[in-house]
Amino acid sequence: MRTFQFANLLRPHILTLSPYSSARDEYTGKEGVFLDANENPLGSALRASTTSPGQYNRYPDPYQSAIKERLAPIKGVRPGQIFLGNGSDEPIDLLIRATCTPGQTDSILILPPTYGMYEVSATINDVRLIKVPLTPDFHLDVEAVIAAIEPTTKIIWLCSPNNPSGNQLDSGAIRQVIEAATHAVVVVDEAYIDFAQGPSWTTELDRYPNLIVLQTFSKAWGLAALRLGMCFASEEIVRVLNKIKPPYNISAPTQALGLEALDNVAQKDAMVAEILAERAVLVEQLRPLSIVEQVYPTDANFVLVRFTDAKAIFEYLINKQVIVRDRSKVMLCAGCLRISVGTRPENEVLLAHLQQYANSARLSVNADALTH
Ligand SMILES: *Cc1c(COP(=O)(O)O)cnc(C)c1O
Repeated sequence: MRTFQFANLLRPHILTLSPYSSARDEYTGKEGVFLDANENPLGSALRASTTSPGQYNRYPDPYQSAIKERLAPIKGVRPGQIFLGNGSDEPIDLLIRATCTPGQTDSILILPPTYGMYEVSATINDVRLIKVPLTPDFHLDVEAVIAAIEPTTKIIWLCSPNNPSGNQLDSGAIRQVIEAATHAVVVVDEAYIDFAQGPSWTTELDRYPNLIVLQTFSKAWGLAALRLGMCFASEEIVRVLNKIKPPYNISAPTQALGLEALDNVAQKDAMVAEILAERAVLVEQLRPLSIVEQVYPTDANFVLVRFTDAKAIFEYLINKQVIVRDRSKVMLCAGCLRISVGTRPENEVLLAHLQQYANSARLSVNADALTH
C-alpha cells in the first residue's frame, strides 16, 4: 500500500493542469480595501431578515477553512484530509473526472443495487461501468469483486450502509477489497453512518492511501437543502479535488450554517437517537402485516420492505399522499419499496394505510372465493 500514488491514477492533463487562480487564492488576508474581485462594494440587494441575516457581496472562502478546522477534530482527521462539495454528488463527479478518460477502457466498479449517482455520473462522463452485484441478501461478494477489477479500473464504489438495501457491508470484506485494489481508489460512501454501529472508515485513512470516505450533511444533520457533502482522503487526493473543483463551490450561507450545525453535535445525536427509536417501532409494526413478505435488516434511516404486491401498494399509498420509493424494478429488489423513517405520527399514517390495504386485499380475496 505504501507504493500507492494517486498521481498514477490521474488523467495526464489533470496531473499537469494549472488550476484557475481566484482572487481569494492570490490574497488571503481578511483586512484591506478589496478591489480585486469585481464584487459590489455597497452590499447585497437584500432586506435583512431572518432568512438572509447578512451581506453576501463578497466571494466566500474557496477552501472553507473555518468548517474544516471545526470538523477535523469531530471526525478525528486533519483539516487537510477534508474536501467539501456541493453535496456528495460533487466529489462523486470530480473523482470520476480526475481519473477516468471518457470513451476508453478506464472503468469504475459498482455493486448493484446501490446509490444511483455512481452510474449516472459515470454515464454523463462516458465512463465504462463494471457491475458486480451484491449477494441476494445484499452482502459484498469479495472474490467476485476482486476478480472483476481490471488494470484500468480507477474507482471501486462501496456504499455502507448501502442504499437501497439499508445494511452495512462487512468490514472484513471491505478491508479485503481495499487491500486488493493496489492501483485503484476505494470509495466508501457513508451517507448513513450516523445511523449505524461501529467506527467510520475515516479511522483507517492513514493506513490506506487508496481509501476515500464520503459523508454528508444531508441525512443525520438534517441539512439536505444546504447541499454540503464531506469527502475524507489523503492530503494528496484532497489537493487534486481542490485543483479541479469550481473555485467557490460552497456558498457563504452554506458555510455559515454548516459551521453553526457543527456547534450542535448534541442536537444531531438526539435526532439520530429519536429516528433509531422510531425505526425500531416501524420495523416491528411492519413485520406482522399480511402484505409484508420481508423487512430487510437496516443500519440506516430507511428500511427496504418486500411486499406481496409492491406496485399496487405503492400506487395505493400515493393516492393517500404517502410517498415511498418504488425500488421494485431495481436489481435484487423485486417487490421492494424503500421507506424512510418519519416522525411517529407520519409512521402511524403509513402503517394505518398499509393495514387498511391489507384488510381490503383480504376482503377481496374472500369475495373472490365466494363468487367462484
Ligand atoms: C443521500 C445519499 C447521499 C447524499 O448526497 P448529497 O448529495 O450529499 O445530498 C450520498 N450517498 C448516498 C448513498 C445517499 O443515499
